[in-house]
Amino acid sequence: SNSSPKVLIVGGGFSGIAAAKKLHKSGISFQVLEARERLGGRVFTKTLTEDLYVDFGGQWIGPTQDRMYELCREYGIEYFETYNQGKNILDLRGKIKTYTGVIPKIDLFSLLNLDWVIRKLERLARQIDLNSPWSHPKAGEFDSQTLEDFLRKNSKTNACYQVIRVGCETIFACELHELSLLHALFYIKSGTSLDCLINIKNGAQLHRIKGGMQTIVDKMAEAFPENIRFNSPVRKIEKTDSGILVISDSGSFTCEKVIFAVPPPLLEEIKIFPGLSEEKKNLIKDYPMGRVGKCFMIYKSPFWRKSGFSGQAVSDGITPFQTLFDCSPANSNYGILMGFTIGNRAKSYFELSKEDRKSQMQKLLVSYFGSEAAKSIRYEDFTMTDETWSRGCYAALMPTGAWTNFRDSYRKSADPFFFAGTEAATRWHGYIEGAVLAGEAAANEVLISLKK
Ligand code: FAD
Repeated sequence: SNSSPKVLIVGGGFSGIAAAKKLHKSGISFQVLEARERLGGRVFTKTLTEDLYVDFGGQWIGPTQDRMYELCREYGIEYFETYNQGKNILDLRGKIKTYTGVIPKIDLFSLLNLDWVIRKLERLARQIDLNSPWSHPKAGEFDSQTLEDFLRKNSKTNACYQVIRVGCETIFACELHELSLLHALFYIKSGTSLDCLINIKNGAQLHRIKGGMQTIVDKMAEAFPENIRFNSPVRKIEKTDSGILVISDSGSFTCEKVIFAVPPPLLEEIKIFPGLSEEKKNLIKDYPMGRVGKCFMIYKSPFWRKSGFSGQAVSDGITPFQTLFDCSPANSNYGILMGFTIGNRAKSYFELSKEDRKSQMQKLLVSYFGSEAAKSIRYEDFTMTDETWSRGCYAALMPTGAWTNFRDSYRKSADPFFFAGTEAATRWHGYIEGAVLAGEAAANEVLISLKK
């Protein structure tokens, strides 16, 4: 292995590996230092038995995520459609109703209200410039309120509020007072539209990867295994006369450029001399990540499909899960229902023992899908919030004031330091696609700077 590569990449998630792939292709020497003993970071495919896996982290791709589909083509990786037929469940205050399509069954006034709120969000999001969200004439107003403030103000009925809230919580994976309205609008535009972010059909939940999402990042890295060092958290980075000194748990390196591809709270913990810009330092002091757990009830087969259920459900605060999805494998060799528990619901849920979590979920599924739901063969759950090298998910969220005060300081490079990670993305920010785009952009910047 090379102990003085030209470029050091901190983090072996999709973003770091996308940067590495680009440098590899350009023949630039590089080293990836990854804290964990695996690649993928917030993408984590867990193999349970020889023919059974679950995606504990990111799992879906959808239209306009062009890089993801190109990667699938490049490596011959197959993907398949998320099961999306039949009746969905709406569970408001324990009252269970079914509906088909994307519009839940609520009273007409609430429905009109809901449509109006969604259109308003879509309209405002379209006005945001992804490269400079702070340049919108009303940026100050949008950035001084939370998404929660906006939804409360614009929802005239409780049913409307509950439905839009659960939808937004599922999209952002946090309590909605934790992010600014301006960030929400940026995020919506970044992911094409609210419609695209919410939906399976023509939306961000359209496809899953055969064998799990981690397959892609593992394939990307197959061309340069000797350039990746695992169990190597980077602790300290120092500019010296002879180059940049990078100190990790598995040894030190000198290099010319560094690409950071780690979540913001972990960037904050690396001691960097001379440090990051004042703006970036101030931003990452308060740039928290969302909180979500994925909970999997596993069956011999997707039995709910026989009774005409899609496996999808939406539910307000009485249950642990904002939303449920059918996450069965492509061949339906198993049936898997996955619940998202988000924000405060996740906090309380993970305070229970695993046994109690399982029994809570199972009881709920019986109330939705009947007694067959009691015959699960396995239960698994996971949250990145508890992971030392993630600290939350899906992504970090800009709180009020952050966009207008700190602008693009997070992604802004300061040669010899370059910043990747999905939080540096303008397009598909927060998603795997965004991580890949940001990694490639950082690698491009490095290539340009090396030519100088
Ligand atoms: P990460 O994946 O976090 O990679 C950072 C890497 O850096 C990690 O491997 C970490 O171990 C390492 N690291 C951290 N600190 C250090 C250090 N000091 N030194 C060395 N290494 C370090 N996105 C989608 O597109 N579709 C989805 O369906 C989807 N669902 C999601 C569901 C969940 C539960 C979660 C958690 C995320 C989901 N996401 C989804 C978001 C997506 O997974 C992330 O946006 C993306 O994986 C981020 O990639 P990244 O490379 O930027 O960061």
